[in-house]
Amino acid sequence: MSDELPIKIYRQNRNTMMMRATLGAIEVFIPHKLKPTDKRVKDFIAQHLPKLAPQTPQTPPEKVSQAEILRLVKAYSQQMNVTPTRVSLRDMRRKWGSCSSLGSITLNTRLSWLEPILVEYIVCHELAHLIELNHSPAFWAIVERYMPDYKALIQQLREAEKALWKRD
Ligand SMILES: [Zn+2]
Repeated sequence: MSDELPIKIYRQNRNTMMMRATLGAIEVFIPHKLKPTDKRVKDFIAQHLPKLAPQTPQTPPEKVSQAEILRLVKAYSQQMNVTPTRVSLRDMRRKWGSCSSLGSITLNTRLSWLEPILVEYIVCHELAHLIELNHSPAFWAIVERYMPDYKALIQQLREAEKALWKRD
C-alpha cells in the first residue's frame, strides 16, 4: 500500500531533509546540494515512509475532470472575449491559478477536487486578469459581470481550502 503513494521530491534552500504526509502524496524536501537519486535521500525516505504512509489522507474524489476544466476556459474565454496565449494545468501547492503578464494562464490540477461552480469562478478570475492584471475595483467589476455572486463563491472557496489544504 505505502509504496503506491506518489512521492514528490522538492529541492529547497535548506540544510536538512524533511518529509511529510500531504493529500494523496508524500512530500520530501531536500537541500539543493543533494539529488533525488542520492543514496542519502533514498535511505531517508525508506526510513520515514513506514511511519508517514498511514497518516497520508486519500486523494479527494474528482468532481471536475481536467478536460472539463479546459472546456470551461474555452467557454469563458469566448464569453469574456479574451484569448489566453497559453493555458496549462499544473499541480501547485499554494494557489488555484495564475495569469502571467504575457497572457498565459496556469490552473492547478487540484481544481478537479472542487465543486464545478468554484472552478468556474477561478477560471473567470484568471481570465479577467487578461483585461486587468491586478485586483483593482475595475478587475472585480469584470468578475462580477460574469459571476454576480462571486463574493459568496470566494467564501465557499476558503471553506473548501480548509478541508483540502489543511496539511499544506
Ligand atoms: Zn487574481
